[in-house]
Amino acid sequence: MKTRVKLSFHLILTLAVMLTMAQTAWAATKIETRTATWYMDGGASSNTIVQGTHVLNSGGMTLEYKNNNTAANTIYMNPSNNQVVFRLNIISCGGFLEFTNLQGTVKKVEFTNVRFYNDMQMYVGKDKNDNSTLLHVAGNASDYDFPSIDSQEPGNATFEGSLAVSPSSPLRIMFSSSNSETSGYFGFRDGTIVVTYDVEVENTDDPGHSFTFAANASSDAIIATCTEGSAYHNCGLTNRQVTMPFEANDVPYDGFRHYASLNQTAFNNAGITNIAAILSYKDKSTNETLENPPAVIGSYTATASVTVTYKETAHPFTLTKDFDILAGFKVNNNYSQFSVSKISALEGDEVTITYTQLMDEILEGLTLTGATSGNNIAYTQSGNTYTFNMPAEDVNLSATFTYPLNENNITQSGDTYTIKTAEGWNYFCQRMEVDGDLNGFSGKTVMLDDNITVTTMAGSTTRPFKGMFDGDGHTLTFNYTADMPNCAPFHITNGATIRNLHATGLIEGGIWHNMGGLVGSASGNLTIENCRVSTQISSTINGEAGHGGIVGYVQYTNYLVDCNITGCVYDGLIYNSNTWNQTYGCGGFVGAMSQYANVDLTDCLFLHGQYDNNGNKCELYWGYDNDRNSTFFHRSNGYGEGKLTNCFYVSTRGLKQGSPAVESADAPDNFAHFGDPTTDHGFLKVYGHTMVFDGKYYTPTCGDLVETYSYSGDKSYIIEYDDMPLGIKDVKTKQRTKYLRYNRPFTKDKAVTIMLPFDFRKNDIRRGEYDNISEGKFYEFAGIEEVPINMWIAVMKEVGEEGSNEETTMKANTPYLFMPGENANYLYFTNGDDYDQGFDIFTEGYERGNKQTEYDGSDGTYSWNKWNFKGTYQPRYWSDSENPEEIGKVYGFAGATKDVDEKHVVAGDFVRAKSGAKIRPTSCYLMWAGSEPSNARALTRSAAATEDLPQRITVKLVSASGETTAIGTLDTKTGELSFDSESWYTLDGVRLSGKPSSKGIYINNGKMVVIK
Ligand SMILES: [Zn+2]
Repeated sequence: MKTRVKLSFHLILTLAVMLTMAQTAWAATKIETRTATWYMDGGASSNTIVQGTHVLNSGGMTLEYKNNNTAANTIYMNPSNNQVVFRLNIISCGGFLEFTNLQGTVKKVEFTNVRFYNDMQMYVGKDKNDNSTLLHVAGNASDYDFPSIDSQEPGNATFEGSLAVSPSSPLRIMFSSSNSETSGYFGFRDGTIVVTYDVEVENTDDPGHSFTFAANASSDAIIATCTEGSAYHNCGLTNRQVTMPFEANDVPYDGFRHYASLNQTAFNNAGITNIAAILSYKDKSTNETLENPPAVIGSYTATASVTVTYKETAHPFTLTKDFDILAGFKVNNNYSQFSVSKISALEGDEVTITYTQLMDEILEGLTLTGATSGNNIAYTQSGNTYTFNMPAEDVNLSATFTYPLNENNITQSGDTYTIKTAEGWNYFCQRMEVDGDLNGFSGKTVMLDDNITVTTMAGSTTRPFKGMFDGDGHTLTFNYTADMPNCAPFHITNGATIRNLHATGLIEGGIWHNMGGLVGSASGNLTIENCRVSTQISSTINGEAGHGGIVGYVQYTNYLVDCNITGCVYDGLIYNSNTWNQTYGCGGFVGAMSQYANVDLTDCLFLHGQYDNNGNKCELYWGYDNDRNSTFFHRSNGYGEGKLTNCFYVSTRGLKQGSPAVESADAPDNFAHFGDPTTDHGFLKVYGHTMVFDGKYYTPTCGDLVETYSYSGDKSYIIEYDDMPLGIKDVKTKQRTKYLRYNRPFTKDKAVTIMLPFDFRKNDIRRGEYDNISEGKFYEFAGIEEVPINMWIAVMKEVGEEGSNEETTMKANTPYLFMPGENANYLYFTNGDDYDQGFDIFTEGYERGNKQTEYDGSDGTYSWNKWNFKGTYQPRYWSDSENPEEIGKVYGFAGATKDVDEKHVVAGDFVRAKSGAKIRPTSCYLMWAGSEPSNARALTRSAAATEDLPQRITVKLVSASGETTAIGTLDTKTGELSFDSESWYTLDGVRLSGKPSSKGIYINNGKMVVIK
């Protein structure tokens, strides 16, 4: 058995400096790595043949065996056993092998299955004595690399390095031995010699493009031109050019920003990839540079500062491109079921409309028409997608839907819908959102048929409720946790009317503003009639919340918004659910108003809700200015206008608005004299100045003397002169006011009786708040004259000295006659020209205001002294049960000619009151003071005793100096004094049957007339 001897390669590795063949600028040559292989198999494969005796040829490459015995330098080839042997003693004959035609730089020489033995060393290189010309076996540092082995077994060896060789300086395989006598053996058995070497060859590769760069003529593109001159360059580019255009197209408006862009595709494909650019935009109309790419309609210039870096050279350019954002054409779509792919499109652009079913509605048809031409526009349908090309006009989208409804929940009859259940309410809300053609139920009436509890809001910003909602007296309970502003049963309205509804429930407002107990936001006119709102609103806002008991926000849109609330009661509560004394800016009826809001409240009642500071119903931050909380409406930022008519509140700790009222379980005095309510608002019934709600009575603190606060909180008073029985209650504490309005119609030259609860001068009366002083004169009772033929004349004397009526002070609580100098619907009192000084209101003696002027008999002019002239602040009735003892002794003042007690009464007379007569507050009457009955039993006798009293009493007005100026008569019902143009009197007050024919001075129509 042969033992394989370990090959012990002591190679000296001399790392030759790698001579990297520089890639020369001359691109016509290149280094090619080749191999030459000699199959040392004795000619078995015929790949290597022997030429003559000493040259091995393999593919034209020659390996020559040289020695000093030319006759014997043979190479022995034995194909039968794949053997090659270089004969002779290779040492003694000085033999070596030479690659005679190898040209290039040798990198590697590999031997396989080499048989090399008998004390020899092998060198591969050029000169075995010059180590720098040798290749080496990796890891060996010997001057030779391959010692022979004492075995005939074949082995392998690889020599590496870098060594330039040529036929004149050839690569050799050389040998040495320390023993020149040895008969060394060098041969192969089925081996190879492989030489790897680099040669410089002509370069036929395509070197690729080589570009130069330039902007085009219009400076909106960069053109790269290939200038590569190599014959082997197959450029492939059209005109040897590629273009990078700066692109910005005209686009239709779509709400988005529009960017210009460098189209780098062609450059990138041509290997130009290092491109940097900074883009900017200018508005062409203003020439201003924009911070961002434009998004609105206009004309623009985009600029790109571009740097193209190519083969380490930077090429800077500035490109510009103009483009427009055009209005384009749009689809007019009022259906939330349809979405349109584009806000606007240019003519010819493809537009897609997508249909989404929102409830159980059925789409019956879709029609597109030109908005200008009316032309039908063709589309293609694919499922729920409709596609068309935009014409050169806007497109109107119209669709036909049917909406099935469940008649258990809601029914429809013509324009009236009737909600029966909460599901019906939900249908109502959903239908409003979904059915664009319904237009928020505009022109429709929605009735409520039952009490229901709901959690869905009706109406939205895009689909506000616009119709009429009639609760028919039912209760809508709305419970909601706020997730946006303006939460309310009716979230957003526009032009709506809501009536006869009781709204209640709880809205947890949290951090959100402008909750409303009934309506969240009126974004258009709103009318609320005859409603009761008990909704409670909680808030966690520590600041201005703007919640409204009934309406959260009256919101300006693009026109004045009127909000009219009539006959409504708020008995809900607004509270902070966490903190005491923090939430403000709320209103009992309206929480906030925008600048152009106009709120008009009539016959409304604010009832203070119940706080529970221990039960998370913490009180609001009370105060008395607009920024805090207001009884009826809160004016945020002082915005909006408000008007209150006959609106009452029962206690407030916020800004007072309307009139303070007293709540009572008992009917007020004289309530029995009310007939039907003045106005029946359903939940709330109004009787003059008395309101009845939920079995309780609400009356102004001073009755028909109404303390009233304007929307800004300014206090004033109104005295209502009406047929209502409330009257003026005692004002025991003087009430200071800057002005007072006495609502009573006055007719020029038609005298009236009057008594007022404050001192005034005639100069204090103004027709309007800043108008002229009213004309007219005041007269006081002077006494009764008796004239022949049982004629009695009440003499009324102008107050003050002659001509001083303007300046003389009329006394509070004193009966007068007033002769108006002009027509007026009311008298307006201020303290003369000193508006700010004000005056005091009080009733004297706390006698419910029933005052009289008694004749004391001191004026001898008048023979009778048994008459009193009395004024009243209470309506006064004469009947079998009320003041019966006065019947027959009381004379009212006839304001018009009429039949009383089957007798013709002429206007201008005092007439005797009969049972059933009454007189209004602030009016006066004459009463016979003689032979007064002491008790009711004397009624019959008293009637007899007054039998002689006249049926009517003529009134004579005299000037301060005693001159008769007018004669007239008193209405049992109105207390008005008038002067009949048909009646003629002598200056003594004797009434004539007609116009006199005798010469003289007479009184006619309240004036002196001279008959000649
Ligand atoms: Zn090219």
